Amino acid sequence: RVFGNGILNGKTSSYSDDEESDIDDPANQSLLNKLLRRTLIDSSHSVEVSQRDPTSPLFSVKSFEKLHLKDELLRGIYAMGFNRPSKIQENALPMMLADPPQNLIAQSQSGTGKTAAFVLAMLSRVDAKKTYPQCMCLSPTFELALQTGKVVEEMGKFCNGIKVIYAVRGNRPGKGTQIEAQIVIGTPGTVLDWCFKLRLINVKNISVFVLDEADVMINVQGHSDHSVRVKRSMPKTCQMLLFSATFGDSVWAFAERIVPDPNIIKLKKEELTLDNIQQFYDKCENKEQKYSALCNMYGIITIAQAIVFCQTRKIANWLSRHMLEDGHQVALLSGELSVCDRAEMIQRFREGKDKVLVTTNVCARGIDVEQVSIVVNFDLPVNVDGSVDFETYLHRIGRTGRFGKKGIAVNLIENSFVYMLKEIEEHFNTKIKKLNSWDFDEME
Ligand code: ADP
Repeated sequence: RVFGNGILNGKTSSYSDDEESDIDDPANQSLLNKLLRRTLIDSSHSVEVSQRDPTSPLFSVKSFEKLHLKDELLRGIYAMGFNRPSKIQENALPMMLADPPQNLIAQSQSGTGKTAAFVLAMLSRVDAKKTYPQCMCLSPTFELALQTGKVVEEMGKFCNGIKVIYAVRGNRPGKGTQIEAQIVIGTPGTVLDWCFKLRLINVKNISVFVLDEADVMINVQGHSDHSVRVKRSMPKTCQMLLFSATFGDSVWAFAERIVPDPNIIKLKKEELTLDNIQQFYDKCENKEQKYSALCNMYGIITIAQAIVFCQTRKIANWLSRHMLEDGHQVALLSGELSVCDRAEMIQRFREGKDKVLVTTNVCARGIDVEQVSIVVNFDLPVNVDGSVDFETYLHRIGRTGRFGKKGIAVNLIENSFVYMLKEIEEHFNTKIKKLNSWDFDEME
């Protein structure tokens, strides 16, 4: 398996049923992003920094050498192919490595180098000669904890004697076990048990406390309170670092409970836009007619690559089965698949092995399949109350302005829903044109 690791292959839970909209939970989405991400996401925005002490000079580094890291750590970084700090790392690293240590809250979209930054901070602060836990990182799920651990192991591969242990369900050292690993990565509930019930970890020895994916964390029942309880018993001198991809009010409230006197770093996300997208609609009587319309386009859409979005798993299943029966090659990506299988499927699509991907909303967010030039909305995205889900529409077909390759979106629409097109046009101040067969000639 490409993304091997037995544990990841199990079926994952998700909120939805066949008939309901196939919406995934944020932890799965985040894991999928991690499994797929190989490169940094660049940003055209500049980093916003607010310092705890506004009078102190603001440092930013343009090279890893300037950080005066241990040699073996620097070697680890270069072995990973990193040449220079990412945008967020330029400011975050000097703060994270400062002496005396400073607390930090950092927000930037996934793929901008947050994990690499705090892993580097943990590795640079541990003392390999001391064989007890000194750094602790809380993650929302077991699988996300393992992904972070992999980065520690990779970046720290030349740091002799540094070990990682996972405080996650299913991993339970016996009472009284001496934990020698210097870095503990785990989920809040299990970490809490290890610290206080099993007394495997002496929190007083922790000098770096990281809370990763705060926005995902607060969505899991009990995680916030467990995290706060772990944090409360940390020594005053412990460095607190918190990361999040988004920064809504609830994340902010949580961050303030975890991190006292923080420096704050934010990097704006690239906005999605419909500017480069030609949008069309094709009116149909019913599902079967939409199906025929799609089959008629098949020849065209396979020249490029296409994603076809359906509202429910049931429709996605039905559609892909029919297309296959009619001899059209399509791949089906839905929330029924484990995250690992989804990642493999998206990878195949990226490599061009599959030309048409039929999917539900599990694929609408966060996945940048750059080469997709045609998006077909087999169903328009709607909210539970039946109104148009504008945000998902934008996520399905929008591109970031900067890299905005031209794209085409086709909305197959049943007569009774035609009014929704008008709403979309008004909402985005955009134009959705009637699809004519000659439009396809232009596409070619
Ligand atoms: P985030 O935690 O914000 O999602 P990551 O730290 O996982 O971001 O980084 C995203 C991707 O970019 C990973 O594949 C990581 O190995 C890589 N990466 C991180 N920092 C750098 C860097 N300075 N130079 C090159 N690649 C980097």
